[in-house]
Amino acid sequence: MNFSELLNGNKLFNIVAEASRELGVDSYVIGGYVRDLLLKRPSKDIDIVSVGSGIALAQKVAQKMGDLPVVVFKNFGTAMIKMDEGELEFVGARKESYSRNSRKPVVENGTLQDDQNRRDFTINALAISLNENNYGELLDPFNGMSDLKRKIIKTPLDPGITFSDDPLRMMRAVRFATQLGFDIDPNTFQAIIDNKERINIVSCERISDELNKIVLSPKPSYGFKLLYHCGLLEIIFKELTDLQGVESVGNRAHKDNFYHTLQVLDNVAEKSNDLWLRWAAILHDIAKPATKRYDEKIGWTFHGHEELGARMTPHIFRKLKLPLNEKMKFVQKLVRLHLRPIALVKENVTDSALRRLLFEAGDDIDALMTLCRADITSKNEVKVKKYLTNFNSVEHKLKEVEEKDKLRNFKPVITGEIIMETFNLTPGKVVGDIKDELREAILAGTIKNEYEEAYQFMLEFASDRFNLQPVR
Ligand code: ATP
Ligand code: MG
Repeated sequence: MNFSELLNGNKLFNIVAEASRELGVDSYVIGGYVRDLLLKRPSKDIDIVSVGSGIALAQKVAQKMGDLPVVVFKNFGTAMIKMDEGELEFVGARKESYSRNSRKPVVENGTLQDDQNRRDFTINALAISLNENNYGELLDPFNGMSDLKRKIIKTPLDPGITFSDDPLRMMRAVRFATQLGFDIDPNTFQAIIDNKERINIVSCERISDELNKIVLSPKPSYGFKLLYHCGLLEIIFKELTDLQGVESVGNRAHKDNFYHTLQVLDNVAEKSNDLWLRWAAILHDIAKPATKRYDEKIGWTFHGHEELGARMTPHIFRKLKLPLNEKMKFVQKLVRLHLRPIALVKENVTDSALRRLLFEAGDDIDALMTLCRADITSKNEVKVKKYLTNFNSVEHKLKEVEEKDKLRNFKPVITGEIIMETFNLTPGKVVGDIKDELREAILAGTIKNEYEEAYQFMLEFASDRFNLQPVR
């Protein structure tokens, strides 16, 4: 098969071909770029393999592109040219052999076939020639093209060896299956089951990178189900598998919170590409197993799971090596608040309750509402519809209060400094108490968030509670 037409879309390939010819080395486009080209998926990074020095080829290409800088990784024998759209990577064809306790192989120079042998999946081993005598020819020793058509993830060589050599490939198998909507070949999947414990030699960062790519896929539940069924999920993220299962007393059963969580995740994924909002979906019920109780009168309860879940969030982030910054805080906030909008679905909900939620959610109120809508997963369509309509009305009321009171990024007009100056106080509990009281009065609607009114309120409260008088 010849794909020179497909390559013609990008003049880069002509430059690489010319540089290769001048150096007298064979070179090929290989891996993800070829796969995505054939699938007509957008792809930024391009990998070139040359039978000879990848670094020398990179330097020649960079020179022809107007002396672009080349980043050389001498230890790996690779080089990279950064383009506007993505990276152009060069590597010399190589042969790899692995030892039992490391993902890092011993590397020696090899042929194109050697290089294809070390690739993780048949669809990732495809190469297209950039050589004069067969420019555009597809080199496909493992029937990757046929696996692309059949939508199959399969290792080129014995899957047991492939996964044992580099166990990260197990995560990659699930990740590609999820991103592309492919099946994993049964023998390949069985080898993941057999080698799952090997994942322990892979760094958490690499695992989370793959996990995040699964989370960002169009239908992330698929990836989590694959991870669950092969046993990897229990090893890398036990808190999530702990959600699985249904317990019943008499004829009262609670729902399976694992599958519920995955449904919520898919629902969120339909509305938003925000990785962290998706993580909030994954974690929103994470504390249900820890808070589960059976009560004769009410049935199953999970009291406080939102608060405990929020407290578990930083621990889970730390363990998974996810960032412990404002992203984590965002997820934590959403987990903590995820029941609040539902609680507001009452006809006589007060402005003060709405104000409080706006104050606590701040700019994340829209994300919170997206999560809450996604959280409605009843099989009963009438029920779902009713809930969603009620949510519309909560959202409407929130808008009204927001417009009236501008509470989204609410800051009380009376600051700690003003309090300290007024009563000649130093920082401490009294100042904090006055501040809290002011905030509560504003949220409750007792006073408006305006200077005069708040100032008067502060004077009265400080006098009543602490017998304080203004110093001037
Ligand atoms: P994407 O860039 O979307 O993640 P990709 O297929 O380009 O997909 P990369 O991680 O960029 O994935 O790797 C480029 C190529 O290198 C892959 O297509 C594959 O051929 C090879 N490769 C990457 N990681 C491994 C690995 N752990 N084991 C074997 N081959 C790998
Ligand atoms: Mg890539």
